[in-house]
Amino acid sequence: MSEKMNFQAEVNKMLNIVVNSLYSEKYIFLRELISNASDACDKLKYLMLSKPEIAKGNGELKIVLKPDDKANTLTISDNGIGMNKDDLINHLGTIAKSGTSEFVANMKENGSAADLIGQFGVGFYSAFMVADKVEIVTKKAGEKQAYKWISNGVDGFEIEETEKEGIGTEIKLYLKAEDMNFTDTIYLRHLVRAYSDHINYPIVLNMGEAGEETINTGSALWTRNKSEITQEQYKDFYQHISHNFDDPWLTLHFKAEGNIEYTSLLFIPSNQPADLFQPDQKHGLKLYVNKVFVSDKVEELMPNYLRFVKGIVDSSDLPLNISREMLQQNALVAKIKHGIVGRLLKELKKRAENYDDYIKFWNNFGMAFKEGIYEDFANREEIAGLSLFNSTESGEKLTTLDAYIERMKPEQKDIYYITGDDVKVLANNPQLEAFKQKGFEVLLLIDPIDEFWTQTLPNYKGKAIKHIAQADLDFKIERKEPKADEGSLDKLLKMMEEMFKDEVGKVVATERLASSPVSLTVENGQMSIHLERLMRNHQQQTAFNSTRILEVNPYHPLIIKMSEMTEDKKKKPEIEKVAKILLDQAKIAEGEPVGDPSFYVSTISDYILQGISDNKK
Ligand code: ADP
Ligand code: MG
Repeated sequence: MSEKMNFQAEVNKMLNIVVNSLYSEKYIFLRELISNASDACDKLKYLMLSKPEIAKGNGELKIVLKPDDKANTLTISDNGIGMNKDDLINHLGTIAKSGTSEFVANMKENGSAADLIGQFGVGFYSAFMVADKVEIVTKKAGEKQAYKWISNGVDGFEIEETEKEGIGTEIKLYLKAEDMNFTDTIYLRHLVRAYSDHINYPIVLNMGEAGEETINTGSALWTRNKSEITQEQYKDFYQHISHNFDDPWLTLHFKAEGNIEYTSLLFIPSNQPADLFQPDQKHGLKLYVNKVFVSDKVEELMPNYLRFVKGIVDSSDLPLNISREMLQQNALVAKIKHGIVGRLLKELKKRAENYDDYIKFWNNFGMAFKEGIYEDFANREEIAGLSLFNSTESGEKLTTLDAYIERMKPEQKDIYYITGDDVKVLANNPQLEAFKQKGFEVLLLIDPIDEFWTQTLPNYKGKAIKHIAQADLDFKIERKEPKADEGSLDKLLKMMEEMFKDEVGKVVATERLASSPVSLTVENGQMSIHLERLMRNHQQQTAFNSTRILEVNPYHPLIIKMSEMTEDKKKKPEIEKVAKILLDQAKIAEGEPVGDPSFYVSTISDYILQGISDNKK
C-alpha cells in the first residue's frame, strides 16, 4: 500500500525555480546525483569502521550509471548507506538547512537561478530538470525493509514498501522527451569526465550487452602531485566537496611533514555562502585517514572564524577507528589545526599584497574573519594585520593597520577608532573634530564584531588601540576666536545638567570640538553608545547604561550667546528650548533617535522661519 505525501512549501518553490529556469545547465543533475551517491558510500564506509558486519556481502563500493534508450530512462545506483522511510521523508521532502529555506522563501519566483545554484547547489531536486518522474528504490544498511519513493516533482511523493536485494539506492529517471540525450553513452562519459572525474569510487557505465566500463580516474586528488593536477581538476574537486558552483578564490594544496604528517587541500570560495552567519552553518572540512573518509564534522580542525574554508585533511597518523569523542580531545588534531591555520594566514598575507584581489575575499568573509582577533588569541595580531578598515583617511579603499601606522603623525602615539552604524555618519561625528585638526587618522568601524575585538586587542605592533573617547589627548585645538565668559558658561552648564539629569550624567566644557556646539560621549572605559544600541537591538540590554557626557564647545557662537542669556532670568525658557534642541542634535550625530521628534521638528521650523523673516528685513 502506498502513502501519499506533500513536499514542504519551500521544496515546491525550489522545484519550481529549478525546473523552470535552468534550461542551459540541465546536465548538472548528473553530478548532483553522483555526488549524493558518493556521499552515501562515504557514510557507509565510515559506519563500517565500527560495524564491519553491516555491509556483509556488499562488495566494492561503486556508482553505476545505466542508461536505457528504449525505455528512455537513466538509473543511477550506489551501494552506499541507503535510506529508510524517515530518511526519504526528511531528506527528500523537506529542506533541512535553515539558511537554504530562508533563502528560498525570500527569493522571488523569478529570481536568478544562477544565484541559487551558486549559493547552494540544487542537490537532489535537480533530477526534475530532466525527468518528469523519479523512482527511488532504497534499502538502508542494517535494516531489512526496502522502500520505493515516486514523484513527478509537482504533487508531492508516494512511498511504499518494496523488495531490494542489497543495500544502497537506485534512482531511476524517466527522462523528458527533450532530454533523451542523457541516455547517450558518449555524452554520459563526457559529463562524468568533465564534472565527476575526481569521485573517489568507481563510476561504472553499464551498457547492457556491450558490458561495463569504469569511466572516472578517481584516485583521491590530493594524493597526486601538484604538478599533475590542472586548475580545472582542482575546481571540480572544490565544487564537489563544497557543493558550490563558483570558482575557488584560493586553492591551497600542501603536505606537512615533520612530527606529524598530513596532506591538506583547502579552498576559499569566491562567493559568500548565504549561511555564513547562520548558527547551523557547517564547517567545510572533511577528515580522511589514509584516503578513507572519516568525518565532516570535526569542528576541532578549523577555528570558527575560518568556517568558510572548504577542503580536506588527510593524515595517516590518526587511528582509523577514531570516534568523535576521541577526535575532540586528540592532540594530533590540535596540531593539524595549528598547522593549517598557519598556512592559511601565510597565504592570505601573500594575497593581501594585491588590494584588488584581496578585497574580493574581504568583502565576502572579512566580517567572519575578524572574529579571529578575539577567538584566536595566539594569532590575533596577525589576523588584525590582515584585516581591512574604513578610516578618515582611507578614501574609497579600505586600510590596513600597517598602512595606518605608516601615515601616523610623529606626535601621534595611538591608533584611534570610533564605532557606529554608518561610515558617512561616523565621518561627521563632532568628536572627530580635534583629530581632524591635528591630522590624526581615525578608523571608522561599523561592523558589530568591531565592538568586541577592540576590547580584546589592546595594541597592535606596540601602538595602543583606543576608542577616541578613551584617547588621553594632551592636545587642544588652536584657538583664536572668542570664548564664552567663564562665570556665565558655568551657569549654563549647571542649568543644562539639571535639565538633563535623567539622561546625561555630566555636562562639561571641552576644548576638543571645532565646529559643533555640543557632542555626546561616555565616561572613560564604559560601553560605547554604539555597543549599547547593538545590545538593545538584540534585546540584550542590561539594566546597566553607560553614563553619558554632554560636551559643550565654549567657543561656539551659540554657546557664547546662551551663556550671555543666563544673566537675564526672563530668558530661561528660551535657553531651555535651545538646550533641548542641542541635545537632540548631539544624539542625531551619534545615530541615536531624538527624544521628542515633534518638539524637535516644530521648534526647528520656528527658528528657520524666524531666520528667513529676519533676513527679509
Ligand atoms: P545535500 O547533498 O547537499 O545534502 P541533496 O538535495 O543533494 O542535498 O540531498 C539531500 C539528502 O538526501 C542527502 O543529504 C542525503 O541524506 C539524501 N540522499 C540523497 N541521495 C542519496 C543516496 N544516493 N543515498 C543516500 N542518501 C541520499
Ligand atoms: Mg547533494
